[in-house]
Amino acid sequence: MKIANGVEALDVSVNMMGRQMVIHPTLLWDEDEVILVDTGMPGQLAEIRAAMEHAGVPFDKLSKVILTHQDLDHIGGLPAILKAVDHPVEVLAHQEDKPYIEGDKPPLKMNPERVAKMLESVPAEQRQRVQALFGTPITAKVDKTVEDGEVLPYCGGIMVIFTPGHTPGHISLYLHESKTLITGDALVAANGELLGPNPEVTPDMETALKSLKKFTKYDIETVICYHGGVYKENANQRLAALAEGQ
Ligand SMILES: [Zn+2]
Repeated sequence: MKIANGVEALDVSVNMMGRQMVIHPTLLWDEDEVILVDTGMPGQLAEIRAAMEHAGVPFDKLSKVILTHQDLDHIGGLPAILKAVDHPVEVLAHQEDKPYIEGDKPPLKMNPERVAKMLESVPAEQRQRVQALFGTPITAKVDKTVEDGEVLPYCGGIMVIFTPGHTPGHISLYLHESKTLITGDALVAANGELLGPNPEVTPDMETALKSLKKFTKYDIETVICYHGGVYKENANQRLAALAEGQ
């Protein structure tokens, strides 16, 4: 979905734990940069490429990737993307999630107990495929770390908001010009509603809920949730309520 000039919420179909769903990486671009925010699951290169071309942006123009956090559905597509582009693509993420993304620490949510529990919820005929997916560690080098409050000087300015909780180094992004908030997994949307972080996949809910208060400092018209897509209805008001725990 087009949000503004040079801002598109992509729709990428993915099979997660045996369920088909749509995830929403964000594409930002101007004359100098093409930036993909989060990269989908492993094996989704064709879908990512198609979604970018659908937005009118050639895949080969990709210059940067910003990762909101370390989880597989956000970093999984990165190695294949980096290989498919014929020039260096700079990868940005927060310092706290960098060691997980680079493979110096095991992925926070893929310890053996979690994987075993997850596999139980997967239909039997898909278990092998999912096991293979989670048994293969996905890592990529982070070229540049970003910090809370930093404004990345690309595409009209991209403000980094450090929103830990879902992971220790989770970030959200704010685009001043289009008043757009890219939440990663700090918030989710479902059935037209904007909701707090999903407790099932958020190990530190207390911190995650505290992080929501940061969003109230910005004037926000459009919210892009990686899970659930675009939310526009009285966004400031809804975000204020979420920050109060409602
Ligand atoms: Zn996610």
